[in-house]
Amino acid sequence: MTTLTEPENTLEYSRSLDAKDKLKSYRDKFFFPQHNGQDVVYFTGNSLGLQPKTTASYIQQELNDWARFGVEGHFLAKNPWMAYHEFLTEKMAKVVGALPKETVMMNQLTVNLHLLMVSFYRPTKQRYKILCEAKAFPSDQYALQSQIKFHGFNPDDAMIEVHPREGEYTINEEDIFSAIEKNKDSLALVMIGGVNFFSGQVFDMKAITLAGHKAGAIVGFDLAHAAGNLKLELHDWNVDFAAWCSYKYLNSGPGSVAGAFVHEKHLSNVDLPLFAGWWGHDKQTRFLMGKTFVPMQTAERWQISNAPVFSMAACRASLDIFDEVGMDALVEKSKNLAAYLEFVIGEINKEKNNCLRIITPVLNRGCQISIVAHGFGKPLFSKLIENGVIPDWREPNVIRCAPVPLYNSFEDIHRFSTILSSLI
Ligand SMILES: *Cc1c(COP(=O)(O)O)cnc(C)c1O
Repeated sequence: MTTLTEPENTLEYSRSLDAKDKLKSYRDKFFFPQHNGQDVVYFTGNSLGLQPKTTASYIQQELNDWARFGVEGHFLAKNPWMAYHEFLTEKMAKVVGALPKETVMMNQLTVNLHLLMVSFYRPTKQRYKILCEAKAFPSDQYALQSQIKFHGFNPDDAMIEVHPREGEYTINEEDIFSAIEKNKDSLALVMIGGVNFFSGQVFDMKAITLAGHKAGAIVGFDLAHAAGNLKLELHDWNVDFAAWCSYKYLNSGPGSVAGAFVHEKHLSNVDLPLFAGWWGHDKQTRFLMGKTFVPMQTAERWQISNAPVFSMAACRASLDIFDEVGMDALVEKSKNLAAYLEFVIGEINKEKNNCLRIITPVLNRGCQISIVAHGFGKPLFSKLIENGVIPDWREPNVIRCAPVPLYNSFEDIHRFSTILSSLI
């Protein structure tokens, strides 16, 4: 922690940290669910981020222009809908460390994973395996299994899952590297979550990309829990492709439009197979409605349909905030929040017989800290909710807490610990 005094688990101390927080004014820019007339302790920004107070006006603008112009809003709206996705590109690219031409907002996360695998999972008899983390998010597992079957292979053979070692909750990265090495002659794709949704473990994406490439494989990441949470450098890390959703750390609302990244080095390859639609066609000649698909030379090539303007308007409201704050400031505060949460859990443990175990690695984490509550089940979680704390629960006994730097405070962490401690 960047503090001079010894940390304390007291209201005064947590407020003194808030007083020094350069981002504290941002909390007021979000709506908080209420509990007994007070903001809840919202630690679920890793599942659904809170609503910025500006979002409604961004959507209202498009509703007004639709009412006013009808179809002509595609050109006459204040923010013409024809190319509405372009309003998001630059700011989104900055958040994930990509070039604008490598970035596009479109569809939903799992849909984007599939569309990108159409281009980047091209198995051959010799090279057909996909390496992923065990206990990946179910949607990712289904996507990978179905891609493997679609190409006529058997997931039991073609999917290499790297597990945590016996008795451990997180994956030893050495095991990822050795699995890549061991399968180097048959590996087509490495597809891992940048942050494991369950443990909160952050993977070394740069090193994994390097190792995957050395083995002759393509490397893609699911950044659902990484985008807007970590400082990413997708371009510099030489990642081949990535996809993420915008409703978790990116606060764009339930089911909002997702992101996709394709590295610059692939953009000049016009022969890459893909599932095409008119929005991936060269925009200069799109409306000549020619018979032949002329691909965009940017990640927009993977767009199929025209832009979903309302969800993009919500995404735009959020990205404007991210752009103002910047990932560096967010990551700095995030580290301090996580360290304070770790500290207060330690304080509870001193009094409560070490009943809480943090499974998220200290050196490899973002906002999220996952806690195993030994001897407590779902009733503990229900009690937390009854007392105005919204964390996230994973069976059998894991509490996932994500203090988010844009809107969570150190006081939230103190309140959380007081309530949790009183329930144990
Ligand atoms: C949240 C999440 C998803 C959700 O997928 P959708 O297509 O947005 O419904 C998928 N994968 C991971 C790793 C996630 O964290």
